[in-house]
Amino acid sequence: TTPRQAAAIELEEEHAAHNYHPLPVVVASGDGAWVTDIDGRRYLDCLAAYSAVNFGHSNPLLLDAARAQLGRITLTSRAFHNDQLGPFVTELAALARKDMVLPMNTGAEAVESGIKVARAWGYRVKGVAPDAANIIVMAGNFHGRTTTIISFSDDEDARADFGPFTPGFCTVPYGDAAALEAAIDENTVAVLLEPIQGEAGIIVPPAGYLPAVREITARHDVLFIADEIQSGLGRTGATFACDLVGVVPDLYLLGKALGGGIVPVSAVVGNRDVLGVLEPGQHGSTFGGNPLAAAVGLAVVRLLATGEMQERAALLGDRLQAGLSELIGHGVVAVRGAGLWAGIDIDPELASGRAVCEALMERGVLAKDTHGSTIRLAPPIVVSGDDLDWAVEQLRAVLEEL
Ligand code: PLP
Repeated sequence: TTPRQAAAIELEEEHAAHNYHPLPVVVASGDGAWVTDIDGRRYLDCLAAYSAVNFGHSNPLLLDAARAQLGRITLTSRAFHNDQLGPFVTELAALARKDMVLPMNTGAEAVESGIKVARAWGYRVKGVAPDAANIIVMAGNFHGRTTTIISFSDDEDARADFGPFTPGFCTVPYGDAAALEAAIDENTVAVLLEPIQGEAGIIVPPAGYLPAVREITARHDVLFIADEIQSGLGRTGATFACDLVGVVPDLYLLGKALGGGIVPVSAVVGNRDVLGVLEPGQHGSTFGGNPLAAAVGLAVVRLLATGEMQERAALLGDRLQAGLSELIGHGVVAVRGAGLWAGIDIDPELASGRAVCEALMERGVLAKDTHGSTIRLAPPIVVSGDDLDWAVEQLRAVLEEL
């Protein structure tokens, strides 16, 4: 760390709450898959802001959409209509093959909104007794940081000293369809899960699991809510991770890449029989559905509508997984993933994930540990094949030096 970076970090640490532990790099600009720090040093971004920058930094198409809208109008609130929201929700619904979109801002808000919609659906459509609704969630889940969401987290760091918690959730093991079915009772309104668990370490469930969840939830009149906030929008080589196994949930929760890395944009996407339960005054957000967000979101949807990003993520993903699997036995214990999204378990005897990420940073690769000795690679989908190979070479070199 240079004196200039140290000074910039100190300034941030002094007055920003310490709820993160960033790598000691101060980024000043970005282009495609690369970012540049305040000293002019370049790094390959292999985190892509937790998949919010799927289409690359400063993506020209997305920047053009944002710039054009900045010059017109950015915020109306939904007290009035705006001319960007209609096209955005229409094309997003079409991309997801659903009827309706509830626009929000952050991922956690989409999750909260999905929970509210599922509960209201439970009382008004399914006929669950007042205040008895229950939602089944998964061990190891990560859905965000609000009080209700951490109420059903099993990560003690996320929960400690933040109680009392919201009731109405029940946890079952991830990947175990029989346990899920056994937990369903007459008050169950929804099953909420990540089709691939991101923060848990890119955990891919057994192949038959999501189809089994779909079949079980349909049979018991329970909503299937897929949190695709990190897994969705091209990352896994498909529009949704659910597509990889031919599963269509009742509600998609989307966020991160929906805002193109420019503005926070999230959404709950579903059919009228579910999302239609919301009536005026029952839910809202000052910024949700704002014209700037809608214009950028529409550009993102159009980017995905061609299928090129998904195809590229699938092709490059094969290349990444092939490169990484060669490291097994050379400091790597296991590699998991789908598309351009990899979880790499480093031998815990050798190093922590954090130590590996620090060494990668020294070599010009930015990555992030998830838990313990697991690191995640999720570069922007616009990354070149050669750059990807180079990143794997840097990881090999780091492991050899341990
Ligand atoms: N859901 C999943 C699967 C996530 O990975 C995340 C963020 O990492 C969230 C929800 C929360 O999104 P946000 O940080 O925008 O609130």
